[in-house]
Amino acid sequence: MSGFLDIYHRRIDYMRISVTDRCDLNCIYCTEKAVPRLSHDDILRYEEIQKIVQAAVRLGVRGLRITGGEPLVRPNVSALVNLLVNMKDIDDITLTTNGTLLYKYAKELKEAGLKRVNISLDTLKKERYKEITGSDRLGEVFSSIEAAQEIGLTPVKINTVVMREMNDDEVIDFARMSISNSWNVRFIEMMPLVHMKSGNNKLVSVAEIKAVIEKSLGILQPCLTTSGRGPAKYYRLPHAEGTIGFIGPVTECFCNTCNRFRLTADGRLRPCLLEDDEIDIKTSIRTGANIDTLVELMRQAALLKRKGHRLNGEYTPGQRQMWQIGG
Ligand code: SAM
Repeated sequence: MSGFLDIYHRRIDYMRISVTDRCDLNCIYCTEKAVPRLSHDDILRYEEIQKIVQAAVRLGVRGLRITGGEPLVRPNVSALVNLLVNMKDIDDITLTTNGTLLYKYAKELKEAGLKRVNISLDTLKKERYKEITGSDRLGEVFSSIEAAQEIGLTPVKINTVVMREMNDDEVIDFARMSISNSWNVRFIEMMPLVHMKSGNNKLVSVAEIKAVIEKSLGILQPCLTTSGRGPAKYYRLPHAEGTIGFIGPVTECFCNTCNRFRLTADGRLRPCLLEDDEIDIKTSIRTGANIDTLVELMRQAALLKRKGHRLNGEYTPGQRQMWQIGG
C-alpha cells in the first residue's frame, strides 16, 4: 500500500502543488487584502518542484494536483505536467482551474499527460459572475468546460462554492447539469477564510443543499465508484449521466481521513489547509539539500498535521488566504 502514516495513522499519499500565487479572478470568498504578490525568484522553478515530488514519491505519494492562484496564468504548465508524469510511481496528475484559460491549453495539457480537471464555477449568470469574481469571463469558462470534455480531461468536475443569498438559488440548475452531462457537479461549503463583511453567515450546509436538490429533482442514490482522492461524497440523480458530489469541510469535518499535504508556490510544505504551520523546503533545495534531507523535511511536515480543524470552535483566518495556499 502506498503512502506514509502521520501521527494519527492517516495515510498520506497525495500532494497539492501550487505553481503561482497569481490569479486572474478576485473571488469574494478567496481574496481579501491586497497582499503583495511573490516575485519571480520567490517561486519554485519546475525543476525544483520535480525534486520535491521525487522526495514525496519516496514517502509514498502517488497522486498530484496542480493548483494556484490560477495555475494556468503561469507559462507552460504542460511542461511541468510532462516532467511529473514521467516520474516513476506517480499514477495521477490533475489540475484545479477557474477555467478562464483552460480552453487554450486543454489539448497540450492532455498531451503532456494530465488526467482530469476540476473547474471552479459558482454561477451560470453573467452579471452574478462579475459580482463574485470581479471579472467578465463566464463565456471562457463555458468554452473550457466544453474543451475539457471534448479532449478527454474527464470526468470533468465542476466545483461550486454555495453562498447564501449569493448563488444558493442556482443549486438546482447546477445539479440538473449532472443529468445530461457526464460531469461530477460538486457543491462545496464555504469556509470562513477571509473576513467577509457578513462573517460566515453565507454558509449553506451540505445537508441543506442535498435537501433542496432532492425536493426538486428526486432522491440522490449514493455512488460507490468515484474518481479521485478527495473528500467528496458522490450521488446520482435518477437516470443521470453524471454525478453530484458534496464537500462539507465545515459541517462534515473530514480531517480524520485527510490524505494530503500542500506545497505552496513559494516552497513551503503546508500540512493542513487551515493552520499556518509550514516547513520551508525551498531554502533547503536552494542550498543543495539532497533527496534524503527533503524526505526528512516531509516527514517533519507530516508530524505537524493536526488531528482536526477548528472551524467550529475558535477559528480566525490565518496568515495566508486561499489563493496563496491553493485550496
Ligand atoms: N484558481 C483555481 C480555481 O479556481 O480552482 C485554483 C485555486 S482556488 C483557491 C481552489 C478552490 O478553492 C476553488 O474551487 C475555490 O472555489 C475554492 N475556495 C476558495 N476559497 C474558498 C472558501 N473560502 N471556501 C471554500 N472553497 C474555497
